[in-house]
Amino acid sequence: MKLVSEYFGCNVFDDKVMKEKLSSDVYKSLKRTIKDGRSLDLSVANAVATAMKDWAVSLGATHFTHGFQPMTGITAEKHDSFISPEEGGKVIMEFSGKELIRGEPDASSFPSGGLRVTFEVRGYTAWDATSYAFIKDGVLCIPTAFCSYGGEALDKKTPLLRSMEAINRQALRVLKLFGNADVTSVKTTVGPEQEYFLVDRETFKKRKDLIYTGRTLFGAKPPKGQELEDHYFGVIKPRVQAFMKELNEELWKLGILAKTEHNEVAPAQHELAPVFTTTNIAADHNQLTMEIMQKVAQKHGLVCLLHEKPFAGVNGSGKHNNWSISTNTGINLLEPGDTPYENAQFLLFLCAVIKAVDDYQDLLRISVASAGNDYRLGANEAPPAVVSMFLGSELTEILEAIEKDEPYGAKEKELMRIGVHTLPKFPKDTTDRNRTSPFAFTGNKFEFRMLGSSASVSTPNIVLNTAVAETLRQFANVLEGVENFESALHELIKKTITKHKRIIFNGNGYDEAWLKEAENRGLLNLKTTPEALPYFTHEKNIKLFTSHKVFTEVEIRSRLEILQENYCKLIHIEACTMLDMAKKDILPCVSKYAKVLDDTLIAKKARDSKGFAYENETLNAINDLSDKAYYATKDLETAVAGTSSIENVKALSLYYKDEVLSKMEMLRSFVDKLENLVAAEYWCYPTFGELLFGVY
Ligand code: ADP
Ligand code: MG
Repeated sequence: MKLVSEYFGCNVFDDKVMKEKLSSDVYKSLKRTIKDGRSLDLSVANAVATAMKDWAVSLGATHFTHGFQPMTGITAEKHDSFISPEEGGKVIMEFSGKELIRGEPDASSFPSGGLRVTFEVRGYTAWDATSYAFIKDGVLCIPTAFCSYGGEALDKKTPLLRSMEAINRQALRVLKLFGNADVTSVKTTVGPEQEYFLVDRETFKKRKDLIYTGRTLFGAKPPKGQELEDHYFGVIKPRVQAFMKELNEELWKLGILAKTEHNEVAPAQHELAPVFTTTNIAADHNQLTMEIMQKVAQKHGLVCLLHEKPFAGVNGSGKHNNWSISTNTGINLLEPGDTPYENAQFLLFLCAVIKAVDDYQDLLRISVASAGNDYRLGANEAPPAVVSMFLGSELTEILEAIEKDEPYGAKEKELMRIGVHTLPKFPKDTTDRNRTSPFAFTGNKFEFRMLGSSASVSTPNIVLNTAVAETLRQFANVLEGVENFESALHELIKKTITKHKRIIFNGNGYDEAWLKEAENRGLLNLKTTPEALPYFTHEKNIKLFTSHKVFTEVEIRSRLEILQENYCKLIHIEACTMLDMAKKDILPCVSKYAKVLDDTLIAKKARDSKGFAYENETLNAINDLSDKAYYATKDLETAVAGTSSIENVKALSLYYKDEVLSKMEMLRSFVDKLENLVAAEYWCYPTFGELLFGVY
């Protein structure tokens, strides 16, 4: 058996391989370009490409691809083989520097929003050399960013990289004020915890809704759900264990630091968390993790469901985005320090995050908005749609003491003076046992908990990085050139707390009373995707992204359009799938069973005056519900037909939410009742019970 340490990263063209396979000049030059973020010199690129190809071919690769994250869906790739014809009908394996650094996929079929009209969308992909190339299924994959020839970003990575540059620029300004001469770069780090469901593949294949939409559109509650809470951290079943083992191995080979695995709250629900890394790499790795999860599941006769709400009435799946900021000297800027000086710096960065989350609540909400996530947020299984922050009581009390110029703690008689006093040490595990907060401080990082399970982590991190870059910019502007740095700092922190403390909430986010209070505090409650999305183009948000050069205004508008279009398409597909299931399978099977009941009823009645209560009453109930379900399909059809007359995509998305979704719910309610009445052998689909408890 091979040791993990022996095969970890064996499919990655990482630093160790580079050092081994490249001449020292080429290696140094590559490292320099990576560090400075400049583009590669062609002669260096040629040398790297040849070494990369030789390495990949020696490991059995035949193709290469530029993998990128389009604005919808998972990683996109087009494979090209290395082969190049030679005389005598032979081939050689070739790969040039040009092919390494730039690819030209046909971009016209990827969603581009308004860009499609404004520009001729021909795009190119460019190697993000900070994210290592790797081999997957015999293909050398080169992580890339995807832009149009006009320079507009057509993917999620380009703006993510831009946002990392923005926060780097502004954080360095602030760090300089604290005298950190040795710090030359600042990067945000991310560790995403990923939830998912596993169901049996044969059972999955019998459900059109799962196949077409990734979630069940009908389904009565099973006798047992998650009420016993016996699944969370429970013993992992052998088949799931085998899946997890292979998943870990595949991820480790790709250099992904898969670390924690456990069962989650819902039956058939599990979680995987990696060790955190630099944000763009974490985003690439999370995309890859979701893909490998699905592939490995297939091999084990399973299907991995990444949908946010595969089963109504059972907890859905999310993703927790753990986020922090680190310097190249290895300092975590969100870690409280040991000295007054370190603590002052920590408090300023903390305030930068507080202000950023308050100022850009709407963007954070948008960054997690999707049709699937709308079923989770605010449903007492995930944070509410209101963005707020949890800091824990110790930190909150310290901030209050600073704000009010009051002594902190029982013993301390002195006032908390920033730059003079040391923060008390708070044990990490007391800082966070509140799982209901959307955005929680967990000792040395923030955990953004509103993400849906299938989401790319790029989008929320683009917002976070840029919003915090903006507050740091404002802070640097205030503090640069002041005479008395310490007192200016103290005032700035005080002012920030006073102005933004409304975003801090340490209580139970699932509590109804909180929503009322949040409203009183003036916090936004954007319940659904169509309601949240229009905030994207509010003036302050356009200003934020354009001033930090993360998005151009054209890019923002095109992205908004894509998000709205995508929402409409998803609901449309769900509605059509429901109609298909109801008309072709459910109503016919109900009718068949009604006939059986009716025949039996007639036979029994002819013989005796009793003994047919079951048939009689069930038949009445079924007939009643069958009519209701049938008319509900008609209503849904009418609602869907109504979409054709709406041209404005914002209006259309609101129509889908208000008119189509409500009709879908209505139809579902009748069908789920029918499911409970129809004999098992007549019901046309596997039940929730079979799906949720079908894997041993
Ligand atoms: P939890 O109690 O939420 O399970 P963990 O300590 O297990 O918390 O951490 C969860 C995730 O947070 C892991 O993926 C971990 O790597 C990540 N994490 C820890 N420190 C940081 C950091 N400084 N920046 C980003 N992510 C981090
Ligand atoms: Mg967590």
